[in-house]
Amino acid sequence: MKRQADIVIVGAGIWGLSTAYHLAKAGTSRSIIVLERNTAVASETTRQAAGQIGQLRSHPLMANAVRYTLELLSNLKEVTGYDPELNRTGSLHLAQCDERVTSFEAQIDHACALGIAAELADGMLVEKLCPAIDAEAIKGALYVPDDGYVNAHSAAIALGRAVIDLGVKICLETEMTDLGLIDSAVDHVETTQGTIQTNCLVVTAGPWAGRIASMAGITFPIQPIRLQQARTVRDSELPEHHPVVRIPDQSCYLRPENGGYLFGMFDPDPLPIDPRALAAGFSTADIAPEKDLVDEARRRLAPIFPILEELEIAQYRQGMITCTPDAGYVVGPTPCIRGQWVATGCGGMGIAGSGAIGRWLANWIIDGDPGEDISIFAPPRFKGHDPEWLREECRHVCANYYALESVTYSLGQSGND
Ligand SMILES: Cc1cc2nc3c(=O)[nH]c(=O)nc-3n(C[C@H](O)[C@H](O)[C@H](O)COP(=O)(O)OP(=O)(O)OC[C@H]3O[C@@H](n4cnc5c(N)ncnc54)[C@H](O)[C@@H]3O)c2cc1C
Repeated sequence: MKRQADIVIVGAGIWGLSTAYHLAKAGTSRSIIVLERNTAVASETTRQAAGQIGQLRSHPLMANAVRYTLELLSNLKEVTGYDPELNRTGSLHLAQCDERVTSFEAQIDHACALGIAAELADGMLVEKLCPAIDAEAIKGALYVPDDGYVNAHSAAIALGRAVIDLGVKICLETEMTDLGLIDSAVDHVETTQGTIQTNCLVVTAGPWAGRIASMAGITFPIQPIRLQQARTVRDSELPEHHPVVRIPDQSCYLRPENGGYLFGMFDPDPLPIDPRALAAGFSTADIAPEKDLVDEARRRLAPIFPILEELEIAQYRQGMITCTPDAGYVVGPTPCIRGQWVATGCGGMGIAGSGAIGRWLANWIIDGDPGEDISIFAPPRFKGHDPEWLREECRHVCANYYALESVTYSLGQSGND
């Protein structure tokens, strides 16, 4: 027997689950099915994320999106009973050159205009907030006290449990394998567990969104790129929580995790990965760790965090961030296909914006309007792009994630995740 659903969401990472949550919370009587090819939700990119949620964004739309995500996650336990494990311990951006200190001053003005608390921190405050830091190794610091970090896996699981309570059906081990169209409108999806009749498909398949697009003969302007990080062993000297630390002059970040440190670096020569060109079952687990990059990150961080020299690596953690040439998301109705929606192109800020992604899509599907002008994320904005150009632009975005020009000019970045 064919199944039927008013809305089918493909992909149970944090974006698919946030979308399901906002759709179900809206209280319409629409039936919602979430398809996930794996045996568990949030087992791909979301599971790998550092979960850093920084509010300082060059574009007010992104700043508001992050603020909303923080609000959603801060209240989630009270509203649903499920704990996303959010820590509002703030963030510290450390400068190692005078230009960066000057950029911090400009960022404080920008933050102030956006209503975000931000201040310069002197060495004493830095060492008080993060005792493992050697403040002699830095030239200045920017402190954003209301930022935070979340256990991204726990947050997605919390949303997953909440949507089940709200009547959403999550179908695990169910891979979408094809799309059925009638007169360029969504009619059904084919899955490894049979056909599902639907007129509304939401593609939240992360780095695999390109595979779904190709089922309809279209492309999205995205390029998945490897991101590498590592977690150290525990150390009794380290506090359980402290602010996320970003060292943009080294392209590195670090935060506490499990009594040790989780740290990573934006690769200056990033590796593009194209799931469309790889075996159908290709997953995050197939990406080999790049240990040299971790060694390089540790070498760059050690002058500021001398303790890193002594801590062994407990886990290499790598995955793909799905980049776009302008560092903006890809969100909205798919051009040329009625009834298909997409949200991909997360970059390194997919957890940070996950709440807003779900809210925009739910508003748009239910009310015909995302609730604010998100046309800068329109899926067709690089229509007719040359794939090689796209790949190189995305590599450039990723390699320069923390570069000084990104702070001022790019859409979503400001050295925040
Ligand atoms: C190392 C690393 C660190 C990061 N750190 C941060 C950070 O600090 N802050 C931040 O904001 N972001 C961070 N990110 C980015 C963040 O992890 C992503 O933006 C976010 O997880 C994207 O979620 P998603 O739901 O779009 O994708 P995913 O979590 O990948 O979910 C997509 C899901 O779709 C499923 N799927 C794919 N194809 C099909 C199909 N045909 N049928 C059924 N299911 C399918 C997959 O199995 C998967 O579960 C980081 C990413 C990495 C890799």
